[in-house]
Amino acid sequence: MKIVSANGRSYRWMERPLAVVCVDGCEPAYIDEAVRAGVAPFFARMRSTGTALEADCVVPSFTNPNNLSIVTGVPPSVHGICGNYFYDPDAGAEVMMNDPKYLRCGTLLAAFADAGAQVAVVTAKDKLSRLLGHQLKGTCFSAEKADTATVELVGMPVPSVYSAELSEFVMAAGVRLAETRRPDLMYLSTTDYVQHKAAPGTAAANDFYAMMDRYLARLDALGYDIALTADHGMNAKHGADGLPSVVYLQDVLDGWLGAGRARVILPITDPYVVHHGALGSFATVYLSEDVKKKISELQGIEVVLTRDEAARRFELPADRIGDLVVVSTRHVVIGTSKARHDLSGLTEPLRSHGGITEQRVPLVFSRKVAVEPGRRVRNFDAFHLALNQAGVRAAA
Ligand SMILES: [Zn+2]
Repeated sequence: MKIVSANGRSYRWMERPLAVVCVDGCEPAYIDEAVRAGVAPFFARMRSTGTALEADCVVPSFTNPNNLSIVTGVPPSVHGICGNYFYDPDAGAEVMMNDPKYLRCGTLLAAFADAGAQVAVVTAKDKLSRLLGHQLKGTCFSAEKADTATVELVGMPVPSVYSAELSEFVMAAGVRLAETRRPDLMYLSTTDYVQHKAAPGTAAANDFYAMMDRYLARLDALGYDIALTADHGMNAKHGADGLPSVVYLQDVLDGWLGAGRARVILPITDPYVVHHGALGSFATVYLSEDVKKKISELQGIEVVLTRDEAARRFELPADRIGDLVVVSTRHVVIGTSKARHDLSGLTEPLRSHGGITEQRVPLVFSRKVAVEPGRRVRNFDAFHLALNQAGVRAAA
């Protein structure tokens, strides 16, 4: 039997073509509600004839760390990507972390391609495709920057980066690739525009999952095995008045220590801030005085960890996080200074992620898979379970 190894894990060669789908921001309740409403018959079928699990994603529960964990099979302590944005101590500057130079290992997708598999990666946003396609001998493109040939293949115009259609483009591209080039392995990664705006069970959310359902059913009909998971969950982050519930941590620290004594980094920061205003439930802080206890006593803060504690608990690269890691509670986000957040793009009450309260995500397979007993299931076990554990009889 042919085996492919990547980052200390082994994967069996696929028996049938496999599509792994990462639904951005898919809190498990989105699928529950869509199935309950009867608009997601294929999801319902996967639950009855396949396997439906819940798994823990990586904290910070952000897009890039989790997508990279899924395609490498390992936590950020190994692959190095622990946010969209960080303070680079070597450069002495706050920089985006979406350059492949920050990756510390290869992907299992590239390993399969090197072993002769036909591999295709389609993402919604362009920021991810460079990381996911790192050293990949195969197809890799984003819906956001789709070229003419891709648009012709998919048969859909390039959608706005802030739209449900950006995710639909990803799924339509996956189906068209399956129909025309039939890759052995596909990784399809959507965007959480809808999830940032619409709660589970709302019309907009159910429409989105009905759309996903149609494309998944199509991939299934084309003979693909399907594994579906999420990069992170999503929660309401506002009060009864509809305004965001924010701890402006830089303002708090400036008040305690004086300006310029602490640096709050929000790893959610990216060029696409319209739907979340750069507000999430995870921050790292560089500072010279020990105010760990004082921060943990602030209302809305769930936990404050030192660098070493956070690196151990969340499996993060210690050299890319601050002296402290601060996580807020389910309905609260962390900001820097109030003046630095442009919330004018928030047309709905804020929904966001980043914390431990967004760690539970779905992990659903079109086939029966057996989870090894006593094992903590992670979203980055998706390829392992789909390739190694499908059709394996569960140990008694
Ligand atoms: Zn995401």
